[in-house]
Amino acid sequence: MKNGIKISSGADYIESLRNRNLKVYLFGELVEEPVDHPMIRPSINALAKTYDLANEAPELASVISPFTGERVSRFLHVCTNVEDLVLQNKMQRKLGQMTGTCFQRCVGMDAFNALYSVTFEMDEKHETHYHERMKSFLTKMHQNNYVIGGAMTDVKGDRSLAPHQQVDPDLFVHVTKRTEEGVYISGAKAHQTGCINSHWMVVMPTMRLGENDKDFAIVGAVPVEAEGITYIYGRQSCDTRSMEGGSIDVGNVKYGGQEAMVIFENVFIPNEYIFMNGEFDFAAMLVERFTTYHRRSYVCKSGVGDVLIGAAANIVEMNGIPKASHIKDKLVEMTHLNETIYGTGIAASYQGYATKSGAYICDEMLANVCKHHVTKMPYDIGRLAQDLAGGLVATLPSEQDLNHPEIGKLLRKYLQAKDGVATEDRMRMLRLIENMTLGRNAVGYLTESMHGAGSPQAQRIQIGRTMQLEYKKRLALVLAGIEMENDKTSITEELGTYFSRVFNLDI
Ligand code: SF4
Ligand code: FE
Repeated sequence: MKNGIKISSGADYIESLRNRNLKVYLFGELVEEPVDHPMIRPSINALAKTYDLANEAPELASVISPFTGERVSRFLHVCTNVEDLVLQNKMQRKLGQMTGTCFQRCVGMDAFNALYSVTFEMDEKHETHYHERMKSFLTKMHQNNYVIGGAMTDVKGDRSLAPHQQVDPDLFVHVTKRTEEGVYISGAKAHQTGCINSHWMVVMPTMRLGENDKDFAIVGAVPVEAEGITYIYGRQSCDTRSMEGGSIDVGNVKYGGQEAMVIFENVFIPNEYIFMNGEFDFAAMLVERFTTYHRRSYVCKSGVGDVLIGAAANIVEMNGIPKASHIKDKLVEMTHLNETIYGTGIAASYQGYATKSGAYICDEMLANVCKHHVTKMPYDIGRLAQDLAGGLVATLPSEQDLNHPEIGKLLRKYLQAKDGVATEDRMRMLRLIENMTLGRNAVGYLTESMHGAGSPQAQRIQIGRTMQLEYKKRLALVLAGIEMENDKTSITEELGTYFSRVFNLDI
């Protein structure tokens, strides 16, 4: 990492990742330079797009840093009003449209936004000094316009046991040694989106912790190349197609996502980068605030959905049947599903509010509803895209066959659809649909939509906690004439957190 150089374009960013001596394993071998690996590069290209968009649309994808006074990525910004939250979502949709995949930068953004307010409240209660450290850390990140990754999901071992009860304590990241200068941590984080493509990682606990879990209540920032870290690259469906050398069978010519396992073996975190150290009582608040931000960040999938709807519309046109009413209806249904995701996410942001620190957070109920939609609707959109594409989406011959001197001619003849449409273009469009619904980017569009930021049940639990059933029951009892309405309960008294925000009433 080249300290002191401010990254100001996608090309700068790609250069900043070189020569870091990371210990990355892929296919049982150490990767010499991840930047040049054909299977890793598409994920770097996707993240680089966040820098390019900041130059193309500065109002959308960048901000003036309150710490340095210079323009930095919006992905490094602490939200201080509703508009900031909303613009995050708009930027995410746009980047989904531009890449058709996961651009990997939201986990870190949502992590430090959550930490900003949690450190403030932790200091208030425990008289610690984490909030100032957090601001100094962010200042440093802004000076270089770095990518911050967020590392939350522990590997968890026996799910019925608390961290301190595990046979092997390393199944949750924890402190192994404390010195005057800082702490050492060991453990592993799974499914780490974009970790190798980041410059720094913020390590956080994954769940509510109890008093016996104090050593697991650790939050700190480490450079991605810190000593003691090993990365084991996650395979994705059809990923080796990018090593075949062509550009058709990959489906998405340039972009892909990245997930890896990160293993920490006594990794040192100096005091200045520690933002929680034993305050187990704030672990739940941190996880909840992070997931509140992150579950509405999944509007990224509406941008990816826009690409898939476009691909489906293209393929029906190439097949010569764009006007059939049942086809149009399926495209309408896909759009309806896609906008439902966006609608709930952006509403969660519009209903944002200030925390004690001054940082704004979005509405928890609607953020959870957004993410819950995301666990289902992309699958429906994907099903409709495959329906419209036809069986060829899963039986298409390879690019090498298309380029073969003999059978290539046959393929061009027999895979010809509407006159004037090149067979190769039709194949490319089908491959893109394959890529997004069962290939490499289905990892991001479907399975990550299912499990990222918490599996479906996690959202149902939060929705259940927030749904204010007693208040709703009372509404019904009054209107049915079973209970009397009275002044005390008429407007504000029983509104609770969610509805007081809906109606903008301060109680
Ligand atoms: Fe961002 Fe979406 Fe990727 Fe998560 S899945 S990091 S929200 S682009
Ligand atoms: Fe994710």
